[in-house]
This record gives sequence, structure tokens and C-alpha cells, in this order.
Amino acid sequence: MSRIRVLDDALVTLIAAGEVIENPASVVKELIENSLDAGATHIDVNIRGGGIDSIVVSDNGSGILKEDVPICVLRHSTSKISKRADLDAIMTYGFRGEALATMTAVADVKITTRHRSEEIGSQLVARIGADVSVTPSNRSTGTRVEVTDLFSRVPARRKHLGSERVEGQRVHEVMIKHAIVRNDVGFRLIRDGEVILDCPEGQSARERVALLWGSDVAKNLVEVRYREDQIQITGFIVRPPVSRGNRGREYFSVLKRPIEDQRLSKAVESAYSTLLMSGRFPICSLDISPPISHVDANVHPAKREVRIQNIDELVSTVRRAVKLALELETPPEVTDTLDAFVDEETVPYRYDRQPFETTERYEDTLIEQQSFGQIDSTADILHLEEIGGVFRVIGQIMEVYLLLEFDEALVVIDQHAAHERVLYEILRKQVNEGKTAVQELLEPIVLHLDTSDVERILELADVLEDIGYSVSSFGGNEILVSSLPEILGKRANEDELISLVDRILDIGEDVTEKFMDDLLRVTACHSAIRAGQTLSNSEIRKLLLELSKTPNRYNCAHGRPTILRIDREELDRRFGRTGVAYFKRYKARHGIKDDLDL
Ligand code: ADP
Ligand code: MG
Repeated sequence: MSRIRVLDDALVTLIAAGEVIENPASVVKELIENSLDAGATHIDVNIRGGGIDSIVVSDNGSGILKEDVPICVLRHSTSKISKRADLDAIMTYGFRGEALATMTAVADVKITTRHRSEEIGSQLVARIGADVSVTPSNRSTGTRVEVTDLFSRVPARRKHLGSERVEGQRVHEVMIKHAIVRNDVGFRLIRDGEVILDCPEGQSARERVALLWGSDVAKNLVEVRYREDQIQITGFIVRPPVSRGNRGREYFSVLKRPIEDQRLSKAVESAYSTLLMSGRFPICSLDISPPISHVDANVHPAKREVRIQNIDELVSTVRRAVKLALELETPPEVTDTLDAFVDEETVPYRYDRQPFETTERYEDTLIEQQSFGQIDSTADILHLEEIGGVFRVIGQIMEVYLLLEFDEALVVIDQHAAHERVLYEILRKQVNEGKTAVQELLEPIVLHLDTSDVERILELADVLEDIGYSVSSFGGNEILVSSLPEILGKRANEDELISLVDRILDIGEDVTEKFMDDLLRVTACHSAIRAGQTLSNSEIRKLLLELSKTPNRYNCAHGRPTILRIDREELDRRFGRTGVAYFKRYKARHGIKDDLDL
């Protein structure tokens, strides 16, 4: 008996569905593309339960002819191409005639539509396992597609979906990707009854990115308009140091088709080169128009990628375009740029404060202390029982390191790392005991953010509340911050909070224990004394006292060391104060007979 069989159509469709429809976001992507192909100028997306429960996409496009309605859900049914040659120059977003067919294989689908040339519309209902029904229906020109209970009968797929929040966020991202390149079209996203994205139709490209990225980023937009040979590059980049902690705001499209391509990301990043600190990524939205015959859109099942002829050339063109735009825009004073990058990791090297005391005095104090065990209360001597010893505070150098002498060793402490650990442990204890110290702000602070960031922060509101942040919507792109963890109190200003928001959003998507922990770390990091901050000796003492009582004090909350110990032996060795020759010289100098054969 033969073991190889040709699979039936339903099964083939189900298999293909795995590639085209991965999650609610891919449903929304396909439906938006259909609406755009139908010439819609406004697209409404309404999702419930992250799109898993239901997705409704309505448009004011051409609508579907009555006679085409039963056909549109069949596999390989498309109005967009008809012959081989059409595949070589695809102008539409869709072309395979698979999307609706695969949706009906993995969800219940209802399509209500009226073609612009017809008086009466139709409604198609395709429930899994039942026959497709088509009935007449009333509606204005355009199409409404409703997809419910995605993957309810494909448990293996459903299992791979993220939380409602994560899936909803993916839908949001997909919409932004389209909205950013199709500024001519209106897009609205309603999630569980709440409008979370509302882009009016007919916006200029600049208005659209400003709306999506928020007014602070919008102030720093740099327009890109570049043409080289047959390639045209248009869009916006953002002036450094405004940047992100990940690639989430790098948008690319080829002939207005949103795509993802690491090579393009790298090209833009290399054009920014040293203008951004390592670990920071540019914000950009660039549309690339090579000749259409150089583009093959038919390479990725979900159309996330396209194949482009001479991609290497294109990538370097993108780099040149961005570099040129930056050169024309960025002020040439290097010092300005440097200052802008100063944060806890990079500190300009200055060496003019709190100089070392001389070695003589160092020895004096040491001898005094050792021989008489006296501690002068005015001297910088510190008893730290927990670490078991007596410290002498030498002072702060380079506005970041604290120097101490302890037990025949030089101790160097990174002030930021040390304070971060102290605060992290305090905060962790507070959270564990459910007693977070909160500072209410007398004047709440309003933050202007990207729309999608606003949304994510508001989703995190409950979690943030647990550690003392209270955030609420202030309408549009704004959120209101009315309280903070107490340890952050002194840093309550807009700039600081914006960069904190950025770091919180960089932590990740899912609220897990790790998320909470990272949130504590980030909060501690932002609250801690920075590099570049001058500390008085009494502040140093205070920090050391706190550190000495802190668990895990040898590393900061991010794992970098807080304390470095350089033993006397190490110093002696490096100064040549050890070894046979040293002792010979020492004895000769002090008239000691060299009777031992050292
Ligand atoms: P494709 O987009 O690859 O052609 P789809 O399965 O997505 O395949 O859609 C099948 C056909 O249904 C399309 O070719 C189009 O004719 C019609 N169609 C789907 N959605 C819409 C819509 N929103 N407005 C008008 N026609 C649509
Ligand atoms: Mg399609």
C-alpha cells in the first residue's frame, strides 16, 4: 500500500495557515493590506482580548462585488494578479489569494461588504466546520471583516500565542508600521472599547511621524530626501542623542511596503556611528524606492521581507543618505555632543577636585593609627563593623571613585554602582514587605510620549503602582505622573522621567518576576548618585555606612563590581618594593648586616 498521499484541500489550507497567520497581528496585517489594496482612505481596527477573541477591520474601500463574495474565501482566489508577468511587478500588498482562505481555516469569519457599483451588499459567514453562507446585507460602500476565536480549534497554535497584552501590543505595532508609511490613510485602533491609535487621513508624512512618536521626538526630526542612481530614499530620522534602547523604532519600507531587514538597520546605525552611545539605537522611518522591477515581494509567507536586486548597493545608499542628512543637521561642535552623552557609564575625565593626599601623610596617619590605636574623630576614619574594620576615607576622584584605606589595602568604590546596590536592596525589601515608601508629587509631572509608549506605560500602571509610581492618562500622547518611589524623589523632573520610561519599556513585554526585578534595578539605577556628582566626605561616609549594611554589596544591581581592593602586596610589587634586591638595598641603607643569603 502506498504511504504517500496527496493531502486534501482543507488540510493544505491549515498547513499554509501556519505560515500566513501566526497571531492576531498577522490577521490584522492581512486585513489592513486588503483594505489598502481596495483603495480605502480610512481603516478602523477593533480588537478584543488582544485580538484572540475578536478582530474587526472596517474600511471605506471599493467593496467586493456580489458575485465575488463566495469566491474571495477560496484558496488562491485573488483579483490582483492573473498572469505570470504580473508577479514581476506587484503593486498591490496582496497577490497570493491566501489570506481570507487561511483565516476561515483557523477562525470564524464574517465578511460584510458592498461594492461601490452595487445597491445591495452581501454578508458571508464562514464558521469552521460549517458550510459558507452568503446573504444580502445593507451597508455603506466598503468592507468589514470580523474574525473571531482565532485558533480555537487549533490548540497547538493557540498555545503559542502570548498574553492578551502582548498580542494586543503586536497588533498595535503592525498598525504603526502601516500608518507610518501610509500617512495619506486614516487609521484607528480600538482595543477593548478604548481608542488607542487615531491617525486622521490626509496627514503629511511629518505630521504622521510626529503623531506616532510624540512631540519630544518630533522636535528633533530630520528629513531625509535622497536620490542616487535609480534609488530614492525618503522619510525621517531623529537627531541624536534622542534614541532608543532597542531597534523598536527603526521602520523601513520598500515601495511603501513595511519590511524588516537587519542590513538596513545596520546601515542606519553605522551612519549614526559614534553619535549614539553603544546600546542606543536610532529612531527612523525610511521608505526606499528602487525600480519596481528590482523588487520581488513574493519571498516571505507573511510578506515581512522582500528580495531586492543589488541589495548591497542599496544598503550603502541608505547609509549615505542618513549620513548626509545627519551631517547637514548636526551642529559640528563636538563638545556639545559629548556632554549630551554623559551619563553614569561615560564620564568626561577631569582630575581637578579632591586631590590625593601625599604619601607622607598617608604613612603618618597609618603609623599613628597602628601604634596607638587612636582614632581622631575629625579625621576620616570610619568603623564598619559589618565589613569588619576601620576605614580611612581618602576622598573622591574623577567624580566617580571613592578611595579608602583599609587593612593594608587601597579600596576603590564606584559611587554609582555602590549606591545603586544600596537602593536596590532597600527597594526590594520594601516591595517584599508590601511597604513601599512613596513620594506624592506636589505638582504632578506631565510626560509627552509616543502613542504606543503611552499605551504600554498605562498597561503597566498597576505594576508600577506596586513600587510607588502612579501614572494615569492625561489624554492623547500624555501621561500624568503623580507619585514616585521615595528614593527617586530628588530626580522628579520631566527629562529624568522620560529616560526612565524608555528604560522601563526596554525591559520587555511580559510582566514576570524578572520584569519586576528589572524594574527595581532600573529604578535604583535612576535614583542612585551618578558619576560626575561631587561628594563631600560626610556624604561618602554615609554611603559607606549604608553599603556596609547592604547584602550583596560587592556588586551593583546590574552585576558590575562596586568595590575593588588593591592590596599592599600588589602596590609594593608594582613599585618594586619587594624581592631580594629591595631587601639588600634596604639593609645597606639602614646599616643592617647582610648575613642571610637572601
Ligand atoms: P489577496 O489579497 O492576496 O488577493 P485575500 O485572500 O487577502 O488575497 O483576498 C482575496 C480577494 O478578496 C482579494 O483579491 C480582493 O479581491 C478581495 N478582498 C479582500 N478584502 C477586501 C477588501 N477589504 N475590500 C475589497 N476587496 C477585498
Ligand atoms: Mg490579501
